[in-house]
Amino acid sequence: MLTNLKEQPKDKILGLMSMYREDPRPTKIDLGVGVYKNAEGVTPVMRAVKAAEARLVQQQTSKAYVGLAGDPAYGAAMTDLLLADSVARERLAAVATPGGTGAVRQAFELVRLANPDVRVFVSDPTWPNHVSILGYLGIPVVKYRYFDSETRAVDFDGMMEDLADVTSDDVVLLHGCCHNPTGANLNLTQWQAVIDLINEKGCLPMIDIAYQGFGDGLEEDAAATRLVASSVPELLIAASCSKNFGIYRERTGLLIAMGEKADTTAITQGNLNHLNRQNYSFPPDHGARVVTEILTDPELKADWMAELEDMRLGMLALRQQLADELQRLSGSDRFGFIAQHRGMFSQIGTTPDMVENLRAEHAIYMVSDSRMNVAGLNAQSVPVLARAIIEVGI
Ligand code: PMP
Repeated sequence: MLTNLKEQPKDKILGLMSMYREDPRPTKIDLGVGVYKNAEGVTPVMRAVKAAEARLVQQQTSKAYVGLAGDPAYGAAMTDLLLADSVARERLAAVATPGGTGAVRQAFELVRLANPDVRVFVSDPTWPNHVSILGYLGIPVVKYRYFDSETRAVDFDGMMEDLADVTSDDVVLLHGCCHNPTGANLNLTQWQAVIDLINEKGCLPMIDIAYQGFGDGLEEDAAATRLVASSVPELLIAASCSKNFGIYRERTGLLIAMGEKADTTAITQGNLNHLNRQNYSFPPDHGARVVTEILTDPELKADWMAELEDMRLGMLALRQQLADELQRLSGSDRFGFIAQHRGMFSQIGTTPDMVENLRAEHAIYMVSDSRMNVAGLNAQSVPVLARAIIEVGI
């Protein structure tokens, strides 16, 4: 039977990772893979995570199953981090999931249970796994314009024009902050216009938030999500702790489903538990418990916030350095967008051929859609990248 299997399409980013590993050039720079790296090129275990893990090892007395939704304390702590006081907790159902990807997958499955004819509107471009999971589940995808490759900012008029086709049967998927792959984000006035459209159409918004704290700050990065939560009747939120807690491999995520009234919460919660049960039964607990320990201990939380802030400011400084260097070399402001973008990524808006030239001639690796991971840079490699960008003629 297994001989019937056909080869699956290769994951672009994973393919790039192995090419990079095999490249013997000592000057190579990896701007492909989506993990945070410090100036030494290391993805560190955060101090607060180490401390919380040490406590768990000391204090944990059982590894027995927890519950289908995961530890309720995790759901509560993460909900506070994401939503603060923007919405009454009685309206929220939530489940722990394996990473943000698990939350995205369960969200899509939930809406398909609610409406077998659902379509999901996604930004063009979006995180490729959105499209791939939707395709796998057989859910139709409709792309809305998002990125203007001339200005490298959001094509807001195009976005609103395309979202005019949304119906009450559809889901609109939005990135809460730090849009992946572009780095270009809506401002709060634009978010308000999107909210008005959502309410006019009666569709279900879904927010994927995987980089809270990587853009303008923990509170600032949650502002749009909170505004939406307080302004619409229903909302799905898929959150990831992979980046902001640096616990990628622990697979720690949360799916929140907000209903219009508290009286539907129990049924929604039952559906979320059911989906966890069908797909993997109990969600992973270790990462979730580490996050809970950090968020509920003032000292650990303060230390985590300080380290996260250092990471964020480091990425902003690299953005500014690169924009300045490119301005100097090109004599133009056309790369100013790099300093305006937020999060770990910027789409520099060039062709796959140019990206290939960067790899072949300069050992600089980025995804073929020209997404670069800013955290892959350091103060020494920024001028190297800037020169290469100018030399290949971007
Ligand atoms: N959503 C977006 C937009 C992402 O960029 C990512 C991470 N690449 C995720 C979700 C999921 O991350 P993870 O499953 O590693 O938590």
